[in-house]
Amino acid sequence: MSENKNILTDSHGRDHTYLRISLIERCNLRCTYCMPEEGVKLSPKSSLMTYEEIYDIAKTFVEHGVTKIRLTGGEPLIRKDIPVILEKLAALPVELSITSNAVIIDKFIDVLKANGVKKINVSIDSLDAAKFKHITRRHEFEKVYNNILLLVKEGFEVKVNAVLIKGFNDNEIIDFINFTKDLPISVRFIEFMPFDGNKWDMGKMVSYAEVMQYVNASFSEENIERLQDAPNDTSKNYKIKGYKGSFAIISSVTNPFCDSCNRLRLTANGQLKNCLFSSTESDLLSTLRAGKSIEPVIKKAVQAKLKMRGGMDTLNKLQQPLLYSKNRSMITIGG
Ligand code: SAM
Repeated sequence: MSENKNILTDSHGRDHTYLRISLIERCNLRCTYCMPEEGVKLSPKSSLMTYEEIYDIAKTFVEHGVTKIRLTGGEPLIRKDIPVILEKLAALPVELSITSNAVIIDKFIDVLKANGVKKINVSIDSLDAAKFKHITRRHEFEKVYNNILLLVKEGFEVKVNAVLIKGFNDNEIIDFINFTKDLPISVRFIEFMPFDGNKWDMGKMVSYAEVMQYVNASFSEENIERLQDAPNDTSKNYKIKGYKGSFAIISSVTNPFCDSCNRLRLTANGQLKNCLFSSTESDLLSTLRAGKSIEPVIKKAVQAKLKMRGGMDTLNKLQQPLLYSKNRSMITIGG
């Protein structure tokens, strides 16, 4: 490793070993909480990273200590050159994983396996077909549901992400937990987070504490097991005794986990985001295309990372549209 080896350590002592790469700004679903109704302004194709550029940038991060890369989007699987991207990144010494809505993932089982992808996160916000259609504005429930079963059958480690929205799917918390009875999956309830154009308000968010109220009302205390969270885990993990799977809560709003954050994000147009909530970005792609080293740009971006939630360190700040709407819409960050 070069003398720059700690370019991924920030001024708060956090080492960044996990890079999430968004491959595309487009998606085949239209989740209301993720993207504005009117859509997002897409980057021109020429401003998106090619697979060679994705590889070059990823390689630099790996040389400086990144050990995990997760591909996301938009919907990463609708990018035409996804097989080549997987193949290129699989040549790096990293754990490669993907987050997908799973609508078309059945067509990629072989290519995912061939490139060593073992962990797949699938988003599904309702186990009711009509509600699924309402939130995603698309009729794809059956495909997604069946593809979750297929991924498990094919031996992938599957995490299922559900964003909870009050009055919409909070009455399904127990159904989701019961989904883990016979399936070795982890269902993760995500607190609804504010981004540009997603009509967020605190009243729609279902908190970690509220999830646990539902759980405590349905299962007896001795059957609810608190599991050990993995280092740098964003989720608080639980299991119902006797169930094959587990469940967890990702509480970025009410119990943020910024102290142990090890994540950096690269957008499809080659911008480095040092935090999911940061309003600033660093242009790695233009630097690369100008033939210059991206290392100083990475180092500066990592050093500039704020201690908590891109500076929105209180619930009061997080609720100010003037602050959170400076950030992108989630669909162009990648989650
Ligand atoms: N298309 C892929 C998918 O559906 O998983 C990958 C991209 S999607 C942006 C990644 C994750 O971000 C999904 O699990 C989604 O539910 C989550 N997400 C999007 N907007 C969110 C919000 N406002 N609050 C919390 N999670 C959000």
